Amino acid sequence: MKITRIFAHRVELPLREGNYKWSGGKSVTVFDSTIVGVETDTGVVGYGEVCPLGPFYLPAYAEGVRAGLRELGPHLLGFDPRELAKLNHRMDAALKGHPYVKSGIDIACWDILGQATGLPVCVLMGGRFGEQVRLYRAISQESPEAMAKKVAGYRAEGYTRFQLKVGGDPDTDIERIHAVRAMLLPGDRLVADANTGWTQHEAMRVVRAVRNVDVYIEQPCLTYEECLAVRRHTDHPFVLDENVDGLDMLLRAKADLAMDVVNLKISKLGGLTKIKQARDLCVSMGIAMTLEDSWGGDITTAAIAHLAHSTPEEFRFTSTDFNSYVTVSTAEGAPQRHNGFMRASDSSGLGIKPKMDVLGKPVVVVA
Ligand code: MG
Repeated sequence: MKITRIFAHRVELPLREGNYKWSGGKSVTVFDSTIVGVETDTGVVGYGEVCPLGPFYLPAYAEGVRAGLRELGPHLLGFDPRELAKLNHRMDAALKGHPYVKSGIDIACWDILGQATGLPVCVLMGGRFGEQVRLYRAISQESPEAMAKKVAGYRAEGYTRFQLKVGGDPDTDIERIHAVRAMLLPGDRLVADANTGWTQHEAMRVVRAVRNVDVYIEQPCLTYEECLAVRRHTDHPFVLDENVDGLDMLLRAKADLAMDVVNLKISKLGGLTKIKQARDLCVSMGIAMTLEDSWGGDITTAAIAHLAHSTPEEFRFTSTDFNSYVTVSTAEGAPQRHNGFMRASDSSGLGIKPKMDVLGKPVVVVA
């Protein structure tokens, strides 16, 4: 089997809530997503998706995905998409860095491997653990009262895991954490995710002020060293995210006892092959994970479902269903949330079929 054509569609994904706000006044109203197709000489076509959280979150941006595909694509024509380690080796040799550019191609090749073998991606990634995957809801940054109201609403829809977007004014963030925790019941989990937004002294004030609140603290500061300093001064369960972009940082953070949970995102690591390596290492090291991506629609949500479902349940902290945050559906067969859970498809590959009328004409074609 050989890759004969790589193409990409640009899709706008407006947010159901109108916008999404997080640390430092960052905000998005319409996500710019790239759906990547990999076509083979057998007629099998696989799909992946890459959707950065704007250009100001991780070192990734939507137009960069498309530019990167034009650069990298010609190096992959003629390669067997089922040979995923070899394909990733080729991608890393042809283009240094830019993991998010490679992510969509890698996901599409897992979809092809699944279709070619008749197996769901979660089975190929290690097996299906449990019946379903528990979801969290990210709560956009608003006033403490508005965020508490949102949490109550999403709780009524079945979610029991909530990730509050903090990382703003520390005094307001302290109120946000108290107001939301007051809405929750025993068994619910609350994460205060500052997305690098606090300076070290601000983070120290916040963790002190919420000392008696049952809350996880996620990526309080910009640098790893600042996060480590905060971590060493609090007994809240601690999550690292933005700083952990590969195995080097994962091993360093484990050695420093710098986290209790790590947030792994598919495009931050560079695709399902690379995140599987990190995921399996975390399982071996006993570290629980939030398994997700930066953002996306139906295809990203399908990829997250297969990744999470193939992870032992005790190491799955949370995942999320991005396709329920946006108003546009780009594929049939994507996981749908039921009472705060989703499950990976039983069909072969990712189990999705893109809606070509929604995708329109490709904006990148490499053949
Ligand atoms: Mg995070």
